Amino acid sequence: MMIRRSALAVLATLTIGGAAACTDSGQAGESFTPGTPGIGDPYFPTYGNGGYDVTDYALTLRYDPGNDRLEGSAKITAKATQNLSRFNLDFRGPEVSSVTVDGAGAEQKREADELVVTPASGLRDGSTFTTVVTYAGVPQPITSPELGTGGWLATDKGAIALGQPESASSWYPVNDHPRDKATFGLEMTVPSGLSVLSNGVPGERTSKDGWTTWRWRESSPMASYLSTVVIGDYRVTTGTHQGKPLVTAVDNTLPRGSNADKAMARTGEVADFLATQFGPYPFDAYGGVVVVDDRIRYALETQARPVYSNSFFGASTSEWVVAHELAHQWFGDSVSIAAWKDIWLNEGFATYAEWLWAEHDTGVPVQESFDKAYSSVNWGDPSYDPGTSGLFGNSVYVRGGLVVHALRLEVGDDSFFEILQEWANTKRNASATTDEFIALAERVSGKPLRDFLMTWLTSKTPPPKPGS
Ligand SMILES: [Zn+2]
Repeated sequence: MMIRRSALAVLATLTIGGAAACTDSGQAGESFTPGTPGIGDPYFPTYGNGGYDVTDYALTLRYDPGNDRLEGSAKITAKATQNLSRFNLDFRGPEVSSVTVDGAGAEQKREADELVVTPASGLRDGSTFTTVVTYAGVPQPITSPELGTGGWLATDKGAIALGQPESASSWYPVNDHPRDKATFGLEMTVPSGLSVLSNGVPGERTSKDGWTTWRWRESSPMASYLSTVVIGDYRVTTGTHQGKPLVTAVDNTLPRGSNADKAMARTGEVADFLATQFGPYPFDAYGGVVVVDDRIRYALETQARPVYSNSFFGASTSEWVVAHELAHQWFGDSVSIAAWKDIWLNEGFATYAEWLWAEHDTGVPVQESFDKAYSSVNWGDPSYDPGTSGLFGNSVYVRGGLVVHALRLEVGDDSFFEILQEWANTKRNASATTDEFIALAERVSGKPLRDFLMTWLTSKTPPPKPGS
């Protein structure tokens, strides 16, 4: 798959070169050129697209678990960032029957994992335009030998759409990269009796002729891999916390009162503890969904409503994974990465939140967690820029946590927590880089930290522990 992607990128480059030589002119005297088929991430050249910036996705879909068919439309509101003659959306989903741009029919064709859209006339730089893609069929998961299986997974009674670094393109057309964040609304119609969980705040639920439409809205910009939908037989608990909706759901095959239920019941408490460390909770809703599916042996910080494999809630009650995924609401979701090589900014901070939570909840000092990790981590692998095969490796997670604590030891508690809160605050709803984090840490602490942090992030030998 990776080889195929690279080949596609080369092809696309050639195409652009060709098009630039004879630019389409949508309006007299102006030149309009195609947007690039990738957003420019060196790890994943075809992820995302160039030439526009999405502001909102509004999905109106119907799913029938009886035949696995998904049908409906995606309305994508975007702003052109160049004079656009055509543009790409990432889409691996079912057959497209029509595409309109600002209400007018547009040409569309599928090229590998891209939907190429040519509007009837060029889109001027800076203009806002609305694309509606109508499609129907049986969505398929995304499988990569290196990154596992994600995207749309049909289940016995429903479906689960989940995955990192990509999953959204398996069920809706998208600019699939965390650099282009957008608000997100979902209207999903399913057979009555099933539940639909997604991101953000729940909306009105309506039923007709044995079908029920569930509505969800995430009103803070969201990276596309953080969108999810879970359809099935779930025990849904709806309440409020800190004046915001708190919706949790647990697969109904788990007994009532299971460890999964107990962990979900602590969602608000864990979020409140993290808010004392990181600053105000960044979103309009709280929640979590526990799924039982052999293909999902992980948890993911899907925005405002993380999805957890039940495998985390086995014999003992433990909320460390809840602390991890909720920490991502600040670090990963609200503050997103600008490129996948910066992934430690998500995982290092979330690992550190596990240590903070352990100290708060069970009295295990953070220093003890650090010391244990320091002696177990493989220093041969970098935390920053780990390569695609290292994206979810120990060096990103555990070494990332070590980096965060090393920074704390280096600058002291006052500066350290100010750095975390400033980072969450100034980069809220944005995408950010490792360089920007280092610059902010230096500014807040008044100390030069670049060499120190880069050593902790990338040195092949264990750096000396600060203060030792
Ligand atoms: Zn994580």
